[in-house]
Order: sequence, then C-alpha cells, then structure tokens
Amino acid sequence: MTSAAVSNFHRLHTDANRATVVFRVKDGMSALASSISIKSVEALQIGWEANEPPGRHSAFVRVTTVDGIVGYGEASPMMGGEHSLGVIRDFAETLAGRDALDHAVIFDQLLHKYVKLGPEGAVTGALAALDIALWDIRGKAVGLPVYKLLGGAWRTEIPFYASIGGNAARTVDEVVRVVEKRWKAETPAAIKIRWDGDRTRQDFDIAGDIEKARAVRKLVGDGFPLAFDANNQYSVGGAIRVGRALEELGYIWFEEPVQHYQVRAMGEVAQRLDITVSAGEQSYTTQDIVDLIEAGVRMVQPDIVKMGGITGLMQCAAICHAHGVELVPHQTQPTIGHVANLHLLATVMHLTKPAEFADPSTRMHAAFANLPAPKDGRFVVPSGPGLGLQINDAEVDARRL
Ligand code: CA
Repeated sequence: MTSAAVSNFHRLHTDANRATVVFRVKDGMSALASSISIKSVEALQIGWEANEPPGRHSAFVRVTTVDGIVGYGEASPMMGGEHSLGVIRDFAETLAGRDALDHAVIFDQLLHKYVKLGPEGAVTGALAALDIALWDIRGKAVGLPVYKLLGGAWRTEIPFYASIGGNAARTVDEVVRVVEKRWKAETPAAIKIRWDGDRTRQDFDIAGDIEKARAVRKLVGDGFPLAFDANNQYSVGGAIRVGRALEELGYIWFEEPVQHYQVRAMGEVAQRLDITVSAGEQSYTTQDIVDLIEAGVRMVQPDIVKMGGITGLMQCAAICHAHGVELVPHQTQPTIGHVANLHLLATVMHLTKPAEFADPSTRMHAAFANLPAPKDGRFVVPSGPGLGLQINDAEVDARRL
C-alpha cells in the first residue's frame, strides 16, 4: 500500500480480544491489508474427558498473525490426530512470515513437499486444519463470516441428520432403542444408521442387517428419510442384496457398501442399484473424488477435516456441480470441523441432503462459547467474523495433552 493510500485509511481495532485489524476507507468501504503475516502455528492435541479413547481427542491448529489475529483449524482425530499434528509441527516454523492470504499456494507447496508420505490421511488432515485456520483469519481480518468470502449463503440454517454409529454390535431391539432416543431428543431431518463393523470380515450377517434396517423403518414410519451406512462391510454381491432391500424399505441412500479402496466395485454397486450409493469420506484428494465419480458413484462425501479444508471442499463442490453429482460432506467432529462444514454447506446451491451430526455431546462447550446447537432439526451458521466461533484460548490450552 502506498503512503498516500495509507493516509486514506483509519486503522480500527474492532475487537480488542481478537485484535481484528480492519483498514477502512473514508467513504465507508473496507479493504484488506495487502498481506497478513503469520507469526506462529501451533499443533494442539486436546483431551476433553478423563480416560477418553484417542479417537475422542481433538487435533487443532492455532495460527496467530503478527497483527494478533488468531485462527483455528481442525484435523481428523484418527489415532488421536497425532500423525496430522506431527506433520503440522514439521512445517510450523517454515510458515513464520508467510502471508496468511496465500493459503492455496501454501497448501499446494506443502502437499507436494509431503507427497511421498502419501497424501492419504495424515498429510491432508494437517493441511485441512491449516486451511480452515487461514480462512478463519481471512474472515476476521475483513470482519466477515467465511461463507460471505466463499460467495455468499444460499441458506444460513442447515438441516441435519442424526448419524448413529455402532449398530453392527447391537441386537435389533438395541438398534431401535438407540435410534428412538436420538430421534426424539434431536428431532433430526433424517437419520443414518452406521454399522461400524469389523472391516476384515465381509457379508457376515446380511439377513440380520436387513432386519435392523426394517425395524428402524417400522419405528419412524414410511416417509421419514433414512440412510444406511455399511462402513465397507460387503462384497459386491452382498451389497446388491442389501441395497435391494433398502430400496424396498424406502431408504434414500446407501453409504460405502464395499471397501473404499475398491473404487471400481463401489462404482459397480452404484450403477446396478436404484438407491443412491455414496462414498468419499476416505478420499483425500480431489483426484480421488474424480476417480469415484468416473467409477459411477453419484453422491460423494469428502470430509473438511480430512481433505483440503474449506478450499478443498469448494473444489469438490465445483467438480460435483460440473458432473451432476451430489455433494454431501462427511463430518463427525463437534466443534471447529462442524462449523467449518456449516459455512461450506451454506454456499452449496444444490444441497440435497442434511448435514451430518454424529456427536450430541456437550463436553466441549467449556472452550466454545457459541457452538451452534441442534435445534428443531437445524443448525444456524455463525455470522460473526471468520468461522464466527468464540473460542476461549486458555480453556483450549488447559486441555492440551
Ligand atoms: Ca460413513
């Protein structure tokens, strides 16, 4: 910025806690500083409750700029998130002095730096976390919610579906009881029953699985939107049998019927069944998403904390729109990932399915003052700057492992 231009700006500290920096011209327009220099990048493994399993930890990144703006991002917490956090720790110091606004350049530089680790999972989770944090910073710098920066919201209230896991190990009656409890407590717009079975076994209780699906249909009645998540437990033939039953029971989608790495088999199941078959929560690059679509899958489910962050999901949205494929992101983390996902969903024109809501726990509210709560089957997207989350840094730090 030239000195003459600077004279036209008044520097405003709009929020002392966040030290948000906005340059505002005299005619009322606001403009962003020409760069926002990164000061530090911290990898935070967070524990919420005593003796929780590693999968219940959170893997956060906190990026602080020279001007004092703080952005938060989240990586997938697989194995406690330690592998993604390790990647973040490895690149953290190299980002000091970089421009937070160069998030897409930084993303691709780091992806190619670590590509020989294999982009699946740990690396892309780390980069997703960083991308979300840099979008949070960008929004705070201009005082606008992320969804505005992405092109605007088609909606700022997002219906959700209750995503109910662990049903492989339950009896039919137990499945019905668990589903009934969340159905009544949350009044979701739809329900998905997940199997979460042993992936080293295949087709081991097809009749029992169909019986559970039938019992849930009987519980909620005809017409209520139901989905079935196989979590990769069938052969192609087994998946066709289960899929035909789900069609008769009026289920609206059939998720990950076969192993995620059997991309052509996934496409074959999708093409042979009438029910919509979905996959993609275990896809880590846009190229993987394209492979699924080319194989025949017509509903994809990339996860904002596993692949690409907000930038990656926006790229997936464009790919899906171009191919006439439904984008229905996977999302199971209850705080930062959840809110980043809501911002993204607000911007998707053809949003055909509700947002995933996996964890009704309130255990994280100590550190997050304004997490969107499930109400009347919907979440309201925060409208404050960046992700719009009010995060208590000290409460986060107190829970570091
Ligand atoms: Ca799933």
